[in-house]
Amino acid sequence: EQLYDKGLEKTRHTFGERLNALLANFRHVDESFFDDLEETLIGADVGFDMAVKLSDELRDEVKLQNAKKSADVQNVVVEKLVEIYDAAGNDESTALNMAKEGPTVILFVGVNGVGKTTTIGKMANRYHQAGKKVLLAAADTFRAGATEQLDVWAKRADVDIVTGKPQSDPAAVVFDAVRKAKEEDYDILFVDTAGRLQNKVNLMNELAKMKRIITREIPTAPHEVLLVLDATTGQNALTQAKLFKESTDVTGIVLTKLDGTARGGIVLAIRNELHVPVKFIGLGEQISDLRPFDPNEFVYGLFK
Ligand code: GDP
Repeated sequence: EQLYDKGLEKTRHTFGERLNALLANFRHVDESFFDDLEETLIGADVGFDMAVKLSDELRDEVKLQNAKKSADVQNVVVEKLVEIYDAAGNDESTALNMAKEGPTVILFVGVNGVGKTTTIGKMANRYHQAGKKVLLAAADTFRAGATEQLDVWAKRADVDIVTGKPQSDPAAVVFDAVRKAKEEDYDILFVDTAGRLQNKVNLMNELAKMKRIITREIPTAPHEVLLVLDATTGQNALTQAKLFKESTDVTGIVLTKLDGTARGGIVLAIRNELHVPVKFIGLGEQISDLRPFDPNEFVYGLFK
């Protein structure tokens, strides 16, 4: 798919092309080949552990399959990347968990600047286009302009929005939005939360409070807590992810700005270290620049 290809251009350029070059020069299995492979993987930000694990497993697999031609080795590399990705997770599904009946409630968390508002706008558009009745809740009442910014996306996506006064209690916005979603039969409610990177206890309390309010109104909700991470921040994104994971029950990840980085391998590192599935990826600033994450498509895309 075009957007996928274009969005991964930078990563492919460094990671994919380096791998391809490595494979093109492949003559026989020797240690220098695996050293180079390891270095390429680390350069793409798959993480040190993952790089070592991958090249170890590849070494065995290449021998086992008696791969001699570079095309065979490439196949082994691709298969192994997908396999390791799959094995690292418990939940293989990238589909959103939807309510059996009544509104589905999706909570978005993440620090400022990662692309949370943009992602909610893209998601709103995606589900609106699919014929769903979508409501947004602007529960980030702390950051100046956050509500207005989400409102712009609501208009772009042609969906409804519940807002509160600046500095008002975000819990009140969430409450109003959940009530409205129930009473007016919305299919999906996307909740934007404040992205202040505060200490863990505060973060934990704030998210717990929001979840309590939601669950009181809809016992099965929230149906997902999606953590938005910026791929261009590399290993820093992993540190953020750990903080959020320790603070609340994160069910999925949206990895934004993959188009802006050559280090797309962070997808694999996140999966390997956090065991939380990447559900969507952001591939640009426009409303349609969002795709469900598909590990096969992703890995194969790197070798095109
Ligand atoms: P928030 O503070 O987390 O709500 O972040 P915003 O949604 O305001 O996004 C911050 C910046 O990142 C904006 O300039 C967005 O256009 C940009 N952005 C968001 N997602 C993507 C993406 O997938 N690709 C690119 N290239 N830019 C993005």
